[in-house]
Amino acid sequence: TITIEGFTAWLAAFRDRVTEHRSYLTELDSAIGDADHGANMARGMAAVMEKVGASPATTADELFKTVGMTLVTSVGGASGPLYGTLFLRLGMTAGAVAECDAAALSSALRAGLDGVVARGKAEAGDKTMFDAMAPALDAMDAAIASGASLAEATAAARDAAAAGRDATEPLVARKGRASYLGERSAGHLDPGATSTALLFDALAEVTA
Ligand code: ADP
Ligand code: MG
Ligand code: MG
Repeated sequence: TITIEGFTAWLAAFRDRVTEHRSYLTELDSAIGDADHGANMARGMAAVMEKVGASPATTADELFKTVGMTLVTSVGGASGPLYGTLFLRLGMTAGAVAECDAAALSSALRAGLDGVVARGKAEAGDKTMFDAMAPALDAMDAAIASGASLAEATAAARDAAAAGRDATEPLVARKGRASYLGERSAGHLDPGATSTALLFDALAEVTA
């Protein structure tokens, strides 16, 4: 299972990754967007860890409500409301629990993805964070269905998220700012899919 301490370690590991790769995420966003994805994610996750540190939660719904609200209010770009919704829905679905097993975590993440879709209307192949997140959750579910442990399931999700990120490179963006470029958006990785791969990399690390 993953406990509140584990969830908090996941968020801290994600904060560390987006901070470490801040320039890279911004470089990706400068090619097909407005060059702020690294700054948005680093600022948002720094604010999240400050809030979480100041008022430690005892249940998943409490923790992720703080995370989601902080991202929605501290990140101006598309990614703030989208990641914010992911965490809000994840927390609501996990509920007032102190830990989740692999299946509960996977359902909560799936509800988060549904929230991202409800908010941003992204479909597969639109060149967004969806293209890393959806395959990650499909891989996680498939692993769980075949009896994988939490560590094995999150490792599968991590690998699928990275593959999904890589697969955004040739795509023409159909959502977000990158879509304004039309065909010129092809040939670049999507910044949001890249940060989502970091999110699953962080999850795999803390559940290993
Ligand atoms: P902004 O585009 O407002 O500057 P960011 O640069 O922080 O926001 O985030 C851009 C990322 O947000 C994109 O790379 C893409 O993955 C994601 N994104 C944008 N629009 C959508 C959408 N409608 N659905 C899902 N993801 C989206
Ligand atoms: Mg941007
Ligand atoms: Mg922006």
